[in-house]
Amino acid sequence: MDLEKYIRVIEDFPVKGISFKDVTTLLKDGEAFKYAIKHMADKIRNEKIDLVVGPEARGFLFGAPIAYELGVGFVPVRKPGKLPGETMKYEYHLEYGSDSLEIHKDAIKPGDRIAVIDDLLATGGTILSAVKLIESLGGIVVHIGFLIELEELMGRKSLSEYNISSIIKY
Ligand code: AMP
Repeated sequence: MDLEKYIRVIEDFPVKGISFKDVTTLLKDGEAFKYAIKHMADKIRNEKIDLVVGPEARGFLFGAPIAYELGVGFVPVRKPGKLPGETMKYEYHLEYGSDSLEIHKDAIKPGDRIAVIDDLLATGGTILSAVKLIESLGGIVVHIGFLIELEELMGRKSLSEYNISSIIKY
């Protein structure tokens, strides 16, 4: 199945110059969604994963069904102030200002084998923050899987020490 044709590309969203890859058109097609989840899960089926971690918000849409498909748990990484339990925070710098992500401290045990899943790899900043949180709790990042990769932004460079997969490349 050619999944790329289910991605709607919207130019200049949310700001001028960004070519936005809209996954809602894939999500609303039952067959394409199922195919995408199965193929993303296939990349890690033999990796003895303990948990899937997905960053807010679109990491939830792909990470949770992949965890379900593999029969393992799902752990959300969220924007600050959303998780009710004790959290670990990682702050990362953007071009202007900074942003941060949080994870529940008790969500990962040292030695847990983790797959990190997100919809799209651009610069890699978001996923690297999730990786830092996982590693600070002692988790082992075994694989990082994306539906889409924007190759020209070279996000893989900042993630060169990890196993990375993507299904659709632009
Ligand atoms: P980055 O941290 O630069 O790798 O950005 C990754 C996050 O931003 C992903 O979780 C995407 O949801 C979102 N994102 C970045 N660029 C795009 C784009 N061109 N189209 C759709 N989503 C994007």
